[in-house]
This record gives sequence, structure tokens and C-alpha cells, in this order.
Amino acid sequence: MNFAACRIKRDREKSVRNRHPWIYSGAIQEVEAGAAPGDVVDVVGQEGEWLGRGFYNPASEIAVHLFSWDRAETPCDALWAGRLARALELRRSIGADPGPDGAFRMVHSDSDLLPGLVVDRYAGFLVFQFLVLGMDRLKDLVVAEAMKLTGAKGAWERSDTDARGKEGMGRTHGPLAGEEPPVEIEIDEAGARLLVDVRNGHKTGFYLDQAKNRIGSRAFMRGRKVLNCFCYTGGFSVSAAMGGAVSVTSVDSSRPALETAARNMELNGFSGEAFTLVNADVPSCLRRMRDEGVRFDAVILDPPRYVANRDALQRGARAYKDINMLAMSLLEPGGLLFTFSCSGLMGEELFQKVVFSASADSGRNMRIVGRLAQAPDHPVLLSYPQAGYLKGLILQGK
Ligand code: SAH
Repeated sequence: MNFAACRIKRDREKSVRNRHPWIYSGAIQEVEAGAAPGDVVDVVGQEGEWLGRGFYNPASEIAVHLFSWDRAETPCDALWAGRLARALELRRSIGADPGPDGAFRMVHSDSDLLPGLVVDRYAGFLVFQFLVLGMDRLKDLVVAEAMKLTGAKGAWERSDTDARGKEGMGRTHGPLAGEEPPVEIEIDEAGARLLVDVRNGHKTGFYLDQAKNRIGSRAFMRGRKVLNCFCYTGGFSVSAAMGGAVSVTSVDSSRPALETAARNMELNGFSGEAFTLVNADVPSCLRRMRDEGVRFDAVILDPPRYVANRDALQRGARAYKDINMLAMSLLEPGGLLFTFSCSGLMGEELFQKVVFSASADSGRNMRIVGRLAQAPDHPVLLSYPQAGYLKGLILQGK
């Protein structure tokens, strides 16, 4: 089957051959007449040779999202159904489906060769994001197939991100199929019971990318006085308490998130004076604690994305450095710092440098005892390293 040809400039062919899934508008030489926004196009080189196939959208800076490098693979219902089934199967084969009461990311967009599609499962419910026009058109099929594959009770849409605007689509959210999810879905994260609001919560409701790190952090927490900064709904707080922390202080600027955090702590049997929640701006709160001489045996720092674009890199790096310096100043000897960055534009190496400069300036001797990344249900194609955004370090002070 042939689709409208999209010829790309010679010096941009390599990236397509290397299976990078994005083609920027500036890389395109010409597009055959008749290709409408959202259509499938055949990407061809200077000599007309077939290179790949993708969704076209002239309104987007990323004008083509490639999904195939095999000419025999025709885009049809069976192909999309197969990709969804494969995404689920690959996760199950590495133990990344936590079972019917758990939550995980079933589809991670380009990393599953399903551009612009995110599917998260929270216990019996699926939450979808459709962020690329060509994928948005496949909504009915994708939702029906994913429901069938997972046996989910209902499907909800959270296509309310900036990415939609870049594709010339409006934001949308609401029911897609089956039962409507309850106001809060209870999920089981390796024994932690957590409430998730898929209607209003961040992302699709919860930070599934941190699941493995939350679970892994438990082993470090016994007997420690813990400070969880940017706690959102208290995922790391519940983990710390489950791991045997003697106290957990959780800080976030979002009141609704903190209210859920309070209920999540209670739901797991952690209430009372040892477990406090603080509605505050983290940097100000850290400064105040430093000045008052408050100290902790473990600090978790999981800030929002400080670097949204290249222009913000320096400013963002400074912000990471500042909060890391403050956090280090609160650590007791032998204390642990779990520090994260979810800014894709800040690589692991740069992040480590920033954290090092925080330690140098605060006169602290810190050593790395662990390196963390996004959970395996958020895989990163080697041809598309940009899918890797979350990195973290576990540091121990002397
Ligand atoms: N660690 C969490 C996810 C953190 S997301 C988890 O595992 O679920 C980042 C959080 O930072 C959000 O909850 C957001 O409300 C909060 N936040 C953003 N800016 C903040 C600020 N200046 N002070 C306090 N909290 C902030």
C-alpha cells in the first residue's frame, strides 16, 4: 500500500534510518499533494527510496511521528491491536504488570511504537492520553482493544496537556468507555494502598514513573527521621513509613494533593504526631528548617520539571542546585538524600554535576550509594533517548 510521499532533506535521512521517531518540519523538503493533517505518509529519501511511515501533521513542529520502518507493515486495525498486545506482553514478561489491583503504564508512546499514546492502568480502570493527531483518530479502536486486552471495567481520557496544543488539537478529558471510575481509585503498590484521582490528579492521576523507586526506598528507611519534599499524594511518605521510618514530614504546595496524602497515610495505618503534612513552598520550608536547626536522617527531593526548554537550562540547573544545597544542610551524619530530576533536557551527567556543586558549596562530603531512573514500564528506545527523562541519585553524607 502506498501513502502520500514525504520527501526529506538529504542531511536528515540518517536520523530516519537510525529509527528516531520524530521528523521536524524543517527536515521536510516536500510533501505530495493530498496529504491531510493526521494522515499516514511514506517518508522517502532524495532518490525516492522508502525510509519509513508515520503520522503527518503540518501544524506541529514535529511534522511526522514515525511508527514503522518496515514497508510490509501496513497500518490497519490489526497492526494497532498487535502493537497494544505487544506493549502489554513485553511488560508482563519483565514483571512490570503488578496484577489486577496494581497500577502501571501499559503504553509509553514512541517507546512502544505508538506515537502520542499513553495508557496507564489503575486497578480496573484505564486512563488514556492521545497527544498526536494521527493517533487521536484511532481513539475508538485503541480504547476498545485496550479494554479487551486488560479486561478493564472502564476507560477515562486525560488528553489535557500542552502537547495537544502543539498538534493543533484542543484539550479534552472525560469518559471513553465502560464504567466511570470512582472519584478515587485505590491501587496497591507492593502493599501500599494509595488513592488516585484520575479526573484531577497530575499526569493521568499518579506518578507511576516513580513506582519502583518508591518501593525500593523502603529498604533504606528503618529508624530514620524522614523529610519528603514535593510529596504530591504521599507515595514516598507511605513507603518511608512502611520501611520503618520513625517520623515522616511531607511537604507540598498543593492543598488537594496534601489532603490525599493525609488519607493515604491513614489508609496504611500511619497517623499521629510522627506523621506530619506541611502545606508550603519547599525552598522556603527548607530554608526555615535549616535556620531553625531541624535535622533529618533522610530527605527525598522530587521537584517538578524545572527545565521545560533549552532556554531554561541554566536557570533550572541553578534551582536544582539550590534545593539540593538546602536539603544537604538538613542531613544528620550518615543521612540519605534521594534526589531526582524529571527534566529530560538535563542529562544524568549534568544532574550529577549540579548535585556535586551543591555538595561542594555546602562543604558536604557526599557519596553515591544508588542510581535511579524511571520505572521499566516507561522504557526508553535506544534510538530515541529523549524518552528517558527521570533520573535520581541516592547520596549518603559522611
Ligand atoms: N514524589 C511524588 C511526585 C512529585 S511531583 C510522587 O512520588 O508521587 C512534584 C510535586 O511538587 C507536585 O505535587 C507539586 O504540587 C509540587 N510542587 C511544585 N512546586 C512546588 C513548590 N514550590 N513547593 C512545594 N511543592 C511544589
